[in-house]
Amino acid sequence: MYSYYLNINAQASGEHEIHKYGCKYCENTYNFVFLGHFSDDKDALLFAKRCYPQFKIDGCAYCCNSIHKE
Ligand SMILES: [Zn+2]
Repeated sequence: MYSYYLNINAQASGEHEIHKYGCKYCENTYNFVFLGHFSDDKDALLFAKRCYPQFKIDGCAYCCNSIHKE
């Protein structure tokens, strides 16, 4: 299981990124909300979309590559 976080500040592209705990792009936790513990990146993505349907959500290319869109 991993701990997942969502960046509440959108990227320049307008997307909010999901990170795993410990990711080097997720060090300033001030800008992140804790999503929960999931065994799979896709589960974290589904949960985040359900919680924040108004957000465009993407996975971090570094720590959540399986859900990162091109
Ligand atoms: Zn990351």
